[in-house]
Amino acid sequence: MFDCPTCHKVLKSKRSMERHQANFHSADPLAKQKAGTVDNASNNASNETLELETPPEQTFECGACNAKITRGQEKCPGCGEALDWSGI
Ligand SMILES: [Zn+2]
Ligand SMILES: [Zn+2]
Repeated sequence: MFDCPTCHKVLKSKRSMERHQANFHSADPLAKQKAGTVDNASNNASNETLELETPPEQTFECGACNAKITRGQEKCPGCGEALDWSGI
């Protein structure tokens, strides 16, 4: 057990004691940063970029049978014609 020399609060670990002292007995903002008390601010900022809309998949039609094909397919699923994507 660790005992805060300033207010005699008992803390479980040396690490919590250091954090406690930085939070309650230090006016130095750098000490608070080291103790990890500014983590919440940076977490909130990163949450906003997580939900990106995925663009709808581009679909094409086979020139021979008008079946829907996706870009990069080697053959048309409708008529089996070989597809050439080099012109797109
Ligand atoms: Zn204390
Ligand atoms: Zn086709």
